[in-house]
Amino acid sequence: MNLENDLYKEIILDHYKSKRNRYIMEDADYREEGVNPSCGDDIELFLRIEGDMVTDVSYQGVGCSICLASANMLCDALTGRNVEEAQSLLRMVKSFFTADQVPDLPDYAGDLVALEGVRSYPVRIKCALLSWSTLEQILSQMESGSS
Ligand code: ZN
Repeated sequence: MNLENDLYKEIILDHYKSKRNRYIMEDADYREEGVNPSCGDDIELFLRIEGDMVTDVSYQGVGCSICLASANMLCDALTGRNVEEAQSLLRMVKSFFTADQVPDLPDYAGDLVALEGVRSYPVRIKCALLSWSTLEQILSQMESGSS
């Protein structure tokens, strides 16, 4: 079924090219850099938090199409969610790429399902997970109460 693959490819490219979430957030509450030396991906993730709500997410940096598309999807999925939802989505996305069985993603995961094909390419999984492991660092900073 190549039709589905082509559709996914187009979704990934749209996210890769999108500039919507790609900017430096000067007044971010959290910012963290993530580097994937095996590919040359190097991004920075920005989060704004009000109470326990993630009110704004952006990223910036350089990377391959998989890395930047995944970062853009992360921004889309997390904006307007609470911290608990961010944590559970992070867990689900990690198993989405690494578990033997593909878990169902919640509706708010948006287009992430388009990255399913990455599962077959272990080297690219690091690209897809870079923004998510950067998010993980931010969430653990939040838990320890430092910003
Ligand atoms: Zn990459």
